[in-house]
Amino acid sequence: MTDENPNTEGQPGLVPAALFGLCPRCGARTLFAGLAKFADRCPACGLDFTTFNVGDGPAAFLTLIIGALITALAIGLELTAHPPFWLHALLWIPLTGAAVVWGLRAGKGALLAAEYQRRAGDGQAKDE
Ligand SMILES: [Zn+2]
Repeated sequence: MTDENPNTEGQPGLVPAALFGLCPRCGARTLFAGLAKFADRCPACGLDFTTFNVGDGPAAFLTLIIGALITALAIGLELTAHPPFWLHALLWIPLTGAAVVWGLRAGKGALLAAEYQRRAGDGQAKDE
């Protein structure tokens, strides 16, 4: 993966922006106001996050990936260790919830950062 761009000095790369919810312009950790909800604007640099329309595109995609992953892990654990059913419930239900929230954050953050970087690449200061 190469998301290095000479025009994005001082801005976070796509991957750290997605993983940590960084503002795509100043790199402050301000992108999310809730668990998987964007803030209205960046309090550090004033970038308006509401102008980005990321939508719920990643949600269905993520659900499929996470569902397949968790199922594979659960089957693997069952076949190797054969734990009691309550252990499965204890393990996979919170893990699935955490994976969905984290995946949504990362997916939405990545889309917003990509959208921002593309606009910045055009040389248009559209957010002023
Ligand atoms: Zn910012």
